[in-house]
Amino acid sequence: MLMHFIDLHAQRARIESEVDAAIQKVLQHGMFVMGPEVRAFEAQLAEFSNTKIALGCANGTEALALPLMAWGLKPGDAVFCPSFTFCATAEIVPWLGAEPVFVDVKRETYNMDPDHLVACIDAVIAEGRLTPKVIIAVDLFGQSADYPKMREIADKYGMKLIADSAQGYGTTLNGKHPGEWADVVTTSFFPAKPLGCYGDGGAVLTNDEQLAELMDSVRVHGKVTASDLKGVEFEHDPKYFNMRIGMNSRLDTIQAAILIEKLNIFADEIELRNKVADRYAEGLKDHVLAVPQVMDGVVSTWAQYVIEHENRDGLQAHLRANDVPTAVYYPVPMHVNGAYEKYKAGAGNLTVTDTIRDTVLALPMHPYLSEDDQDKVIEAIRSFNG
Ligand SMILES: *Cc1c(COP(=O)(O)O)cnc(C)c1O
Repeated sequence: MLMHFIDLHAQRARIESEVDAAIQKVLQHGMFVMGPEVRAFEAQLAEFSNTKIALGCANGTEALALPLMAWGLKPGDAVFCPSFTFCATAEIVPWLGAEPVFVDVKRETYNMDPDHLVACIDAVIAEGRLTPKVIIAVDLFGQSADYPKMREIADKYGMKLIADSAQGYGTTLNGKHPGEWADVVTTSFFPAKPLGCYGDGGAVLTNDEQLAELMDSVRVHGKVTASDLKGVEFEHDPKYFNMRIGMNSRLDTIQAAILIEKLNIFADEIELRNKVADRYAEGLKDHVLAVPQVMDGVVSTWAQYVIEHENRDGLQAHLRANDVPTAVYYPVPMHVNGAYEKYKAGAGNLTVTDTIRDTVLALPMHPYLSEDDQDKVIEAIRSFNG
């Protein structure tokens, strides 16, 4: 049997009867949008990552847009994010007429480099054209960004901080989740993410009740909030009064019902992923340019297990010939990527990003990767003389 890059069937087999029963229950009660399972899942998700409030939404891209819309991001505003990320991190910024500024990452962790971030903010201030407003840190490949430093920088410049945890929901730094530092954490439940559903889904998490109220309004067409209603007399049902421009970004009840079952085994799956990662590191550390380095105190969710090799393309072809599936994340960083090239590539060059785009290679990674399959991957890499 061919090895999977990510094996969703193995997980499905583990919780098949629970998931099927949960879906049946939704089919029977028929509240397909914002049904009771959505509220239950939001409460459980908030609890899992020790945050006051979680709100489900349609996907991880719109999860990023919700706080930006709630904060009133506008033309002339700058949002700082890594260039080495999935496009969605930057995509939502031009939606609102603002501009992304691309920052380099650290060679060791592939996460946003705090020193380069400061240089980029200072350069934007010196230029005077844009106003620095928001930092979006990404928990790339499942590893928490350096949030204590990110928070310090955001506070120093009076900026907001978003944790794009689409790949890293569940990651901790010294036992704490990104929401401990970020104003809002966003995540995606796309099936291939560590916590995925059976379609599209996403969530925002925050300890800021006022922000939560605004994001809840934005996700439902800018509906009236409890605060909007205070001291105001409406002549009609305020349900149809739209206080702000919003959108439709709701989480389906069926997806929430599936996610409740997946969240039940998620902590165990993070442990299993870490076992796989440790075994890879042991088998590969002397045979490739780099195995992943995890910051002190961080538990990664290992959305991807990414090694580096000088002859990445040669190694990938060799692995393909040995029936080992791999992928490259990300071959085209944002600052040289089509529609995004016109935005500012931070201060100076993105040296690390420009280097690692040619050396990174993601190996098969999921909680149910067997030792036999993993040995096959390790042996295939060791046998490459390129
Ligand atoms: C997947 C991903 C997103 C977008 O999530 P979708 O649910 O696919 O919209 C955003 N940021 C990062 C870093 C991602 O990996």
